Amino acid sequence: DVAGGSKRTSRVRVAVRLRPYMEKQDEKVAGACVRGLGPKSLEIINWRNSTETLQYQFDVFYGEQTTQQEVFLTSVKPILPHLLNGQNACVFAYGPTGAGKTHTMLGTQEEPGVIPRAVREVFRLVRVQEKEGDDWDYTIDMSYLEIYNEKVLDLLSPSTQDLHIREDKDRNILIPGLTHTSLSSFLDFHTHFIPASLNRTTASTKLNQRSSRSHAILLIKVQKSQRIRPHRQQTGKLYLVDLAGSEDNRRTGNQGLRLKESGAINLSLFTLSKVVDSLNSGVGRVPYRDSKLTRLLQDSLGGSAHSIMITNIAPEQKYYFDTFTALNFAAKSKLI
Ligand code: ADP
Ligand code: MG
Repeated sequence: DVAGGSKRTSRVRVAVRLRPYMEKQDEKVAGACVRGLGPKSLEIINWRNSTETLQYQFDVFYGEQTTQQEVFLTSVKPILPHLLNGQNACVFAYGPTGAGKTHTMLGTQEEPGVIPRAVREVFRLVRVQEKEGDDWDYTIDMSYLEIYNEKVLDLLSPSTQDLHIREDKDRNILIPGLTHTSLSSFLDFHTHFIPASLNRTTASTKLNQRSSRSHAILLIKVQKSQRIRPHRQQTGKLYLVDLAGSEDNRRTGNQGLRLKESGAINLSLFTLSKVVDSLNSGVGRVPYRDSKLTRLLQDSLGGSAHSIMITNIAPEQKYYFDTFTALNFAAKSKLI
């Protein structure tokens, strides 16, 4: 927040969520390589050398029993009222493929994740304001896009090519040509978003697990306009992001197109880590412009924005190295 005229930049809260063990029970004998130590801390155990444990601390640690509701109530719901004051917010899920990013963000019919819960809550907050009869008219709209190979693609209008990211004179980030669909209710959102997100998931199996290699970005915009003079306008943007898998694709021997994708994924995630790092340490230039992802999120990460990174990790041994690297990224963001 901007306090007393000094430009203090907000930090990114860092949560870690461990998903339940999913390997067959008989494979579980080896044991999980992640153990919770408290509400903010955990340790990882390298069973190849079981005397070696590493401990980490974050803003919050969600153990495997944590419900979707609890993640939403404690990490996301509190930041949503700021949207109605014209401030921006960003929730992103980070971590290796298979660790629970999509479960956290999208969830299932039975266990809806952050996205449906947040949109429902935004509608509720707006309805409350309207009932209280303040001087503002509210509209809510959505855009849904994907960053793949450093290209910005419109998931609501799949035929469009790479879109450009621009900054206006007030330092707002814009994407000319991006589809904005206005929403009249949560049901309306459901109708537009679910087919688009299923599209992406089904396409992904054909296109070499594209969903694990691209960043899916849902933007919910709350626009207010004052009914009386001076007819002020305000916009609050909420980004809900399911990031590409953080695993190091170079290790799996990818070549050609896959290697190029890996490079692009690594560039965006690598830059994101530097951005979060420099925001949280307050040191150095924030390198927003070094990747499409961070350029896009520039007005919604840091500054007066409210943001949280949920780092998803998996307990199985085979994820040990990916867990280790994901936690080091997250811990760096937290500790400095
Ligand atoms: P990612 O998007 O990071 O690749 P997914 O969200 O697809 O990972 O999760 C991988 C699998 O684990 C899916 O079958 C998902 O349903 C399951 N899963 C992930 N997190 C949880 C959780 N907290 N509780 C139960 N199942 C989970
Ligand atoms: Mg996923």
